[in-house]
Amino acid sequence: MKVVIDRKSCAPEPVYNYVKNAFETAQRLAGGASDVWQPWADAKPFPQEAAFPRPTEVYQNLAAWLAGRDTPRMLRRTIRIIGRMTLLTLVDRDIDSPYWKAGEADQQDLASSLLLSRYPECLLCSALPLTYSNPCFIIVCNANHIEKAHHDEPNTNNVDTIQNLPVLDGRLVLKIRDGTADSRVMAATSAKTEPMEQDPEGNWIDDWDPKKPEVIVINPQYLRSLQEKGFPRYNDDLINHARLDTARKAAERAAGVEIQASIDLLNTLEITLLHEISHLGTMNWAEDVDDDCYTWDNAVRLQTCTNAENVALFVVATDLTKNHNLKVTKSGMIEPI
Ligand SMILES: [Zn+2]
Repeated sequence: MKVVIDRKSCAPEPVYNYVKNAFETAQRLAGGASDVWQPWADAKPFPQEAAFPRPTEVYQNLAAWLAGRDTPRMLRRTIRIIGRMTLLTLVDRDIDSPYWKAGEADQQDLASSLLLSRYPECLLCSALPLTYSNPCFIIVCNANHIEKAHHDEPNTNNVDTIQNLPVLDGRLVLKIRDGTADSRVMAATSAKTEPMEQDPEGNWIDDWDPKKPEVIVINPQYLRSLQEKGFPRYNDDLINHARLDTARKAAERAAGVEIQASIDLLNTLEITLLHEISHLGTMNWAEDVDDDCYTWDNAVRLQTCTNAENVALFVVATDLTKNHNLKVTKSGMIEPI
């Protein structure tokens, strides 16, 4: 499954490199989490609690807090989808070029993911080939591909020129394009979603062209705020920083909001990308299940892998345990094991 990071909208080069690095880190984190959890997901008979990865209590807690509302089957499906993230390959393409637009699409990719999400136990789906010529999603660093529509349809005054789809008024991506979304809006994903949207007359809109990739839009204001902070990355320094309670308090004061969980200090572009990727139809169709679906506290409140934030935090918390010998408490504090 191929992924493009758009060089034009992500210019200049340091920004592009930062986004690329964040994507590669996100993918590495997903791969690490997949390594930890896949044996549990593959265990037979299923569900089999005894086969939880070690340290058992840490991972059992993590599963309970972030996916507790779901059945083990649902958790297993999420693990398989995190594994799918490792199959993504970055390719260097010009998204304005007519060549890839005319090429063979990732149609079967999408078809297999449709099956996978409807029938998580479908063996055939995971056996379908996963290499196609066209990108299955594109990361852009602004929303300039959303243009004014040249027609008089009510409530859809814009069109997504990558997906060739109308954009309903009021969508977040329009606020990102017009610069009216503030920098706390990190990104938006235009994905093949279910259920389909309804037009003003109440008809279901299903005009998805499977030749068109899904699109992750990073808010340029968010990118600028990251640039001003010197392009923070998910790394040892940041993890050590998050562990310091004093740093957490300082961040709370600086942000003017109460940050409950120190793991939220790790919320870098890498984690944003994990969140957005899990929104993709090609991956998971995880949702933003309600208006307060971000941050650790809400993930623990929601307890479902169908929430994108839960998937992202599940990957991060697994990395902390696997590679840093740390655990996350229920209140989101990062402690040595
Ligand atoms: Zn989201």
